This record gives sequence, structure tokens and C-alpha cells, in this order.
Amino acid sequence: MIGLNFHGIGEPRRTLERDEAPYWVSAQQFERVLAQVAQAPEGFQITFDDGNLSDHDIALPALMDHGLRARFFVLTGRIGAPGALDTAHIRALSEAGMTIGSHGIDHTAWPTLSDAELKQELQSSRARLEDICGCAITEAGIPFGRYDARVLRALRAAGYTTAWSSDGGGFRHGTFLRPRTSLRGDMSDGDVQAILSNRMSPLRRLRRAVRMVQKRWMVTG
Ligand SMILES: [Zn+2]
Repeated sequence: MIGLNFHGIGEPRRTLERDEAPYWVSAQQFERVLAQVAQAPEGFQITFDDGNLSDHDIALPALMDHGLRARFFVLTGRIGAPGALDTAHIRALSEAGMTIGSHGIDHTAWPTLSDAELKQELQSSRARLEDICGCAITEAGIPFGRYDARVLRALRAAGYTTAWSSDGGGFRHGTFLRPRTSLRGDMSDGDVQAILSNRMSPLRRLRRAVRMVQKRWMVTG
């Protein structure tokens, strides 16, 4: 299984964070990826981080056109802010069969938080989303892909059954920690093809495996 992660699509409707711009893709780039995923949907999981308005305005209709489902990891501190999803958008995504998950509250790197802050970030974002969509929230998208052993423990303790990282490559169905690859606007068609077919050089594959073991077992905060 390959996890594909998107952030924003089209023109941003808010001021972007530092280093965020490359993670926005055009509607055409997005459409090209969806058309390919739709050829073999069982091999892919599509996710969206940050809760941008384009999740609702651009991604939702395109996904429906292709008969695809996706997961949306929302920052609850931004709900209703300019350029972000509001409660009605989140409900519409959920009612259309999409999975809603947490990306935390304030877009912070979770390993840098104290135990109490981390607990708050994971629990109250989850409670807020459950309140909005009236469904169980059990999945989280890890901000900036930054996690360590303490973060994974806190996620499990807060009731999450699945956490999505940004380690790239594939994963087996049913695993707790699921790596994804973020698609960027500056990727060439060749780059995108390599991701969709999970082509990675042996050296990159080894580095990824080592990095994942380190992050899973160490406390870095
Ligand atoms: Zn994010």
C-alpha cells in the first residue's frame, strides 16, 4: 500500500507558513494523480493535512468523480479561519464518506511539546472533531512527519489506532504507523511516477528503514 499525502490544491486563500509553498500542487497536478490512482485504487491511500479550504472545494468533488475515498487531517485551531475548513465543510466531507482525523491544534512539532501539552493537543483536537462530525476519530496525521517513541505512546494513550507519518515508501494494511509521501508542486512527472510505483533506490530504502527504527524507539524531544 502506498500513502499519498496532499496539503493544499490550487491558489492558497491564506498566508502560507514558512517553507509551505512547495507543498501546494495545482488542480491539474492533483487531477493527474487521481486519474492514475483510480486505475488501481486498492494500492493507494490518499490523505490531506492541515484542513485547507481546497480539501472541500477542490479535492472532494474530484475524489467523488473518480469514486475515491480519502482521509482529511484537520488542524482544529484553524477551523473557520480564512482559507481553512469550517465545521460545515468538515461535516460535508464526513457525510460524503471521507475519514476525518486530527492533525493537532496549532501545527506544532509534537516531539517538542511537554507531556501535558502533547496530551492536550491529541485529546482536545480529537474531542472537537468528534463533536463536529458525530463520529469516532481514531486517526492522526503527524505534523511535519516529526515523531518519536514518546509521541507514538501518547497517540495510543489518547485512543488513536492509526498514525500517518511522512517517511515515504509503502506499508502493510492494518499497521499502526503508516508512512506517506507528500506530493509537491515542484515534482516532475517522473518524480510522481516513481512515487506511485514505489520505486526507491536500495540506498534510499535502507536509509528510510534506519530512520524509521530510530524515530520509533528514541525520545528526541
Ligand atoms: Zn501540516
